[in-house]
Amino acid sequence: MMDNVKGKVIVITGASSGNGEAAARHLAERGATVVLAARRKNRIEALEKELVSAGHQAKAVVTDVVDKEQVKNLLDTTVATFGRVDVLINNAGLMPLAPLEQVKTNEWDQMIDVNLKGTLYGIAAALPHMSRQKSGHIINVSSVYGHKLGPDATVYCATKHAVRTLSEGLRQEVKPYNIRTTIISPGAVATELLEHISDKEIQAQTKDFVSQIAIPADSFARMVAFAINEPENVDVNEILFRPTAQP
Ligand code: NDP
Repeated sequence: MMDNVKGKVIVITGASSGNGEAAARHLAERGATVVLAARRKNRIEALEKELVSAGHQAKAVVTDVVDKEQVKNLLDTTVATFGRVDVLINNAGLMPLAPLEQVKTNEWDQMIDVNLKGTLYGIAAALPHMSRQKSGHIINVSSVYGHKLGPDATVYCATKHAVRTLSEGLRQEVKPYNIRTTIISPGAVATELLEHISDKEIQAQTKDFVSQIAIPADSFARMVAFAINEPENVDVNEILFRPTAQP
């Protein structure tokens, strides 16, 4: 069976929990070298230790994606350590749901800074390496909410729609460099995403609904692996998936 995951050097932002952590475990088990990025040092260092003890290749690099120098350091450190970067998964994100009328401008800033600008900083840091290599793969995490509007999710949806738009622009522009681009758009996955909703009523309602339908993060991990595993001349442009029970 074809294996285009084994041996790849894969950087994953938001690897300290949820989708990113599940992807890191799955890809490492399939023989990739995984570079784990997030702010929570203890989480990514524990994951590095666990994966390395199991005989896999992993390295934790503490990174706050709102800081473009830290994101540049993440990609530069990857290339300095492993000689190249094959895949960047721009996965870090947050979703503090609230209606616009609550005017939670700090949360709007956070979503724009992490979900949108963090993705752009990842692209900025990866492109010089990938264009020099004349190979690479940038995977940006959007959402079902990058395809529609949901309640109390206007700013989140705006960032996820924007991630899809910039990913399509990227796809069109990087052809001369043989770089693949993929958008992964998940529906409800059981992660820590709802923990950052500051409105306790909205949080309780959302948790109540999501807990009834959410699927495990290993589905996300398999989707990512599928896109990476296809041959280099196959560009899986978008994967949209959700729980069967999700509207
Ligand atoms: P989690 O809250 O479990 O994970 C979010 C990850 O993002 C954490 O690892 C967190 O790490 C990281 N992160 C947040 N802010 C920053 C930052 N400033 N710098 C670096 N890392 C940061 O949620 P999910 O796993 O669900 O989220 C992953 C992605 O999946 C997000 O983009 C989300 O929008 C998307 N998604 C999730 C869905 C779901 O139902 N779960 C549905 C659709 C999309 P740390 O705090 O350690 O920095």
